[in-house]
Amino acid sequence: MASKQQIVSVLDEADKEAKRSAKEQNTLFRDGASQLDGYSRISRHQTGHAIDYVVYDESGKVTWGFSYYEQVSWAFKQAARELGVPIKWGGDWTSFKDGPHIELDRQVYS
Ligand SMILES: [Zn+2]
Repeated sequence: MASKQQIVSVLDEADKEAKRSAKEQNTLFRDGASQLDGYSRISRHQTGHAIDYVVYDESGKVTWGFSYYEQVSWAFKQAARELGVPIKWGGDWTSFKDGPHIELDRQVYS
């Protein structure tokens, strides 16, 4: 389980990354990896309000198993609560569950 310190450092690194361009977003859309086309529907990644993360399983391989992402989301949520930063986890969405996705709450950060 990730510690709060690790989570904060991940968010810090993400903050330094370049924002996703409309063209990059549109490529993901055309590949079926996103429901947002980047032009008429803007992603939170384009505005610098979201990150995607990957989880490594017990054998050190990247996994897409939803339960792994759920466990890490608890650590993100815990750290965010302690820091007073409202976040949303993509795995909580009902229409399109996006386990690797964390974003700043758009009610507060627009
Ligand atoms: Zn995402």
